[in-house]
Amino acid sequence: MNITRISKSKDGLKQKFLVKESSPAFVNALRRTILAYVPTLAIEDVEFHKNSSALYDEVLAHRLGLIPLKTDLETYELPSECSCKGEGCAKCQVKIKLSKVGPCTVYAEDLKISDPKAKPVYPKMPIVKLLENQEVTFEAIAQLGRGKQHSKWTPGHVYYQGYPEIDIGNCPNPEEVKDACPKNVFSLTKGKLSVNKSNLENCDLCKACTSVCEEVKVKGSDKDFFFWVESWGQLPVKEILSTALDYLEGLGKDFEKSL
Ligand SMILES: [Zn+2]
Repeated sequence: MNITRISKSKDGLKQKFLVKESSPAFVNALRRTILAYVPTLAIEDVEFHKNSSALYDEVLAHRLGLIPLKTDLETYELPSECSCKGEGCAKCQVKIKLSKVGPCTVYAEDLKISDPKAKPVYPKMPIVKLLENQEVTFEAIAQLGRGKQHSKWTPGHVYYQGYPEIDIGNCPNPEEVKDACPKNVFSLTKGKLSVNKSNLENCDLCKACTSVCEEVKVKGSDKDFFFWVESWGQLPVKEILSTALDYLEGLGKDFEKSL
């Protein structure tokens, strides 16, 4: 197996890889491990002292839970694995406070967080709008958790696709096929259709080409894959991948030990 990075967004949070000589089982195991087992920080408990905003406590608490917080996996433990046995301590909890009186919009950046490293990824995320004299005051606790408990703890969006394999065959209507492709994967020279190698990686297997010509065959490889990781911002992409791989390796070791 080998892996190369194909593209990376400016902030590094969206990356696309080409994984070669692998299998659907492996890339899917990696995808599911990332979604379900890579922990991140999120607000879990909120105690409202005052809430005269237009939103119910429950709605507000739900919105707070969905705010992505920068996560330092070296510093924090999952509550279930912490030495405090889940009772709550500085190693497994971050304390958060907020007190605001309207008129104003309360943003994620207004949260007073005990650990300055655990700040909101997007400071300008609106939480609630307060009118004249409306007030929100609460204390909250953020802790590590896993996507399998609640999707607010997922580190990002992960998906894959088989590398496009296109067989043009004996196509009678090359122009139509070329025009049908929204990703400009085909080129036409002197009436002869060919696959534009530099655009092939844009092919998302939509099969618009096969709908205008039955001769053209398109399928995704079951050995080579595009693999996308889009972090919500709590963790860098590299850490998401390495944490997931460590987890998978740990599962293998556990299995071997019980054997
Ligand atoms: Zn603890």
